[in-house]
Amino acid sequence: MKEKVRDWEDLKKILSRIQGKGYKAYRELEGTYLLSPGIIFFLDHAQPDPFATPSRVRIRVSMKKALYPSHLYSHPVRKMALENFILKNFSSSLKPFSFKRGTGNSGLFRVYSGGQEILKRSGCEVTPDYVEVRFRMGLPAEGRRIKGRELLHMLEGLKKVSPSLLYSNLSPQEVEEFVNLVEDVEKIREELRERRLVAFIKEGSILPRRSGVDERPLENAIPFHSPPPLKVSFSTLHHGKVEGMGIPEGVTLIVGGGFHGKTTLLNAIERGVYPHIPGDGREWVVSDSATVKVRSEDGRYIEGVDISPFIKDLPGGKDTTFFSTEDASGSTSLASCIMEALEMGARVLLLDEDTSATNFLIRDARMQRLISKDREPITPFIDKARLLYRELKVSTILVLGGSGDYLEVADTVIGMNEYVPEDLTQEARKVCQFLPSRRKIESEGEFGKVKERIVLKESFSLQRKDKVRSKGVKEIVLGKDLIDVSDVEQIVEETQLRCIGEIMRFYGKKMVEKGVPLRESIEQILKLIEEEGFQILTRYPPPDLSLPRIFEVASAFNRWRSLRVKQKD
Ligand code: ADP
Ligand code: MG
Repeated sequence: MKEKVRDWEDLKKILSRIQGKGYKAYRELEGTYLLSPGIIFFLDHAQPDPFATPSRVRIRVSMKKALYPSHLYSHPVRKMALENFILKNFSSSLKPFSFKRGTGNSGLFRVYSGGQEILKRSGCEVTPDYVEVRFRMGLPAEGRRIKGRELLHMLEGLKKVSPSLLYSNLSPQEVEEFVNLVEDVEKIREELRERRLVAFIKEGSILPRRSGVDERPLENAIPFHSPPPLKVSFSTLHHGKVEGMGIPEGVTLIVGGGFHGKTTLLNAIERGVYPHIPGDGREWVVSDSATVKVRSEDGRYIEGVDISPFIKDLPGGKDTTFFSTEDASGSTSLASCIMEALEMGARVLLLDEDTSATNFLIRDARMQRLISKDREPITPFIDKARLLYRELKVSTILVLGGSGDYLEVADTVIGMNEYVPEDLTQEARKVCQFLPSRRKIESEGEFGKVKERIVLKESFSLQRKDKVRSKGVKEIVLGKDLIDVSDVEQIVEETQLRCIGEIMRFYGKKMVEKGVPLRESIEQILKLIEEEGFQILTRYPPPDLSLPRIFEVASAFNRWRSLRVKQKD
């Protein structure tokens, strides 16, 4: 990157010189330009052709000009929120200027400002000295010929839009509301643990989404209403006393008839690990930050996981203390998913009957009589749920309409009735006394061990020039490997997935040699990103990454078919 700051006239001169030339001449434009007083434009990397990923650019406004009051970014949580706000606002201001002006990506701006979730993003950075947004633009061409005049129009657009980065051009109430909301939500999240709660859902929240492909709130939905016995309140800094349902630690069942809103409630809790934008409807749904949705995933890869707490004595004598397969079943994949989550420090597990193998969840009295325990490798989750909480302090929230046997192991039972929750805990106790399940407990009185794994060097065959790519929220391409993460439900954005890919590459380069366990290694990398920024992964300020949690990073490692591990003794 050239350091010298050139001015608008220099830019115009270069443009007229390269007008009509071959696309490669755009490289001459890489550099730094003064867009207007106090506002600098960086063209960090010019794309090699009009169809390639659009070029990396930045706009930096000095704080002397941007004038954000420091209380908006003095705390890391508030800073993260402010950056999200600025980026979203910039993105929508830029939209009218983004349209096709030639071949391939010519004329398009791409700002990675996210959807409903608020995440730490590489696309905006606020420091005491400046505000910077990073994004991509498609340098325009007709065929492979540079369209300099079109680029000039794009840059004039940027010049017009860049004042939207100044505090004076934002609505102070809107900014304040956005930042204060995130701060209060994160405060509640911290307080959950002290109060021995795993999730909080505020009165009046709107949980259902418009559709499977539209994350906006469903219109005319029935607002959330807490059953009185589960009602809790939090005092907040900016929103006074906030009331809603608190789900206590332990084993919680969500029961009720089909289509009464059970899965919708669980999904909201699953997404509640992230703050949401105002108006999302779930902005006050707050779950423990170490909440992990686990599920069955037929056909997935598993490498070196000790699933023996759940599955032992497989026919053929296959070892389940170091279990590997290219093609997992419903039950082995779910067992693995749980053990992998525990390995990374999960404190709350979420399971839904819709996505869990039945033989993993339950074995009732009649089946126990018909097939004796010594002929069944699986110890069902029902016999482990209480032990998980007693020994490891890991809570479970389980959606289950179909099996009453679970009522016996539940601390809390929430019944969904036409989208309104009821506390059925006492009722459920009575049912258990009146109608015993007669099943025998099948576990040996303890949960079993959670083993740590160490990634082996041979997993990585990445070459220097190998690309890391992502496809939506479903796949990562890592050199020659394709990693299918379509069943990892808490990856919410492509930017997160791309970041996971970069973290994996970084791991291969900088971490794997150290032989430190997977958990500690990922923790170290995430801490580095928090402290030093996303550029530790890419060596340049990237426009299109956002921070994943340790669980989602590990889930990509775990589904990577090249992964080879050893267990820590
Ligand atoms: P279950 O898991 O109990 O079978 P779901 O959670 O899948 O039910 O919900 C069934 C349908 O009801 C979904 O289409 C969902 O969008 C809708 N729904 C859920 N909660 C509400 C609500 N509060 N108001 C209106 N519709 C809702
Ligand atoms: Mg359901």
